[in-house]
Amino acid sequence: MLARRELFPNILEMNYQFRQRMGCSVYVVHDAGEWALIDIGFEDSTDEIIDAIRQMDFALSQCRYLICTHADVDHIQGMKRAKELMPQARLVAHPHARLLMEKADRIETYAEISAQGISIDLSPIPVDESIDEGDVLTVGNLKLKVWSTPGHANGQLAFEMGPYLFSGDNIYRDGGVGNIDAHHGSDLVEFIKSLERIRDSKIEWLLPSHGPVFRKQSAHIQKTIDRLKSYLNLADFGTCATGWPLLQEWEEELIHGFDPTQA
Ligand SMILES: [Zn+2]
Repeated sequence: MLARRELFPNILEMNYQFRQRMGCSVYVVHDAGEWALIDIGFEDSTDEIIDAIRQMDFALSQCRYLICTHADVDHIQGMKRAKELMPQARLVAHPHARLLMEKADRIETYAEISAQGISIDLSPIPVDESIDEGDVLTVGNLKLKVWSTPGHANGQLAFEMGPYLFSGDNIYRDGGVGNIDAHHGSDLVEFIKSLERIRDSKIEWLLPSHGPVFRKQSAHIQKTIDRLKSYLNLADFGTCATGWPLLQEWEEELIHGFDPTQA
């Protein structure tokens, strides 16, 4: 029997539970004997995580949901194995994440980053149910409200449970955000909207998918929003930008000719 190290009432996180960094955050929410997992990480740690959950006296047969925040390989590769161990649990994901998981898309999931020599196994993972904005998942007496928070990935979800938001890769404690990358389906305009929604919400605690949990503070999120807004008009993230004012400036200069005294 393993002692449960709860972060908050009814919430455990497995890196905190193991007191060592395993991979992405793996949250367990539980009530009245039922429980659910939010993300699982890579397949090679799945058995160890689920065995530890069992040793904390959770019945595997009482797992209601296997929940995916989004389809990135480092969050969901182990979901196939988790479903084998707990066939009664409903594997749920956003419709776009479901598409990527069921066809084992190698690009949008980051299984393949050929320019960096990254190539990770990814089997097709059948999803039981699509979930999206406004849906509610029930675990015991707990209610997880589904938020659609695109930006990092098309199809990223967050989950509101009272004062807590399981916030995926929207924002981390250092103010960083999930990778912005056109090939990953990132969208800067949507990303900013997702962050504004989190900023303006009554959420008190953010439980991200990487790194430590932290208290939601508007000024902290605003700083990140301002940074992302600046990228809308810069070339830093290529086709994720909405415009590049420098090109209009250049056009003016081309018409009038280059003048070193004005440069
Ligand atoms: Zn991630």
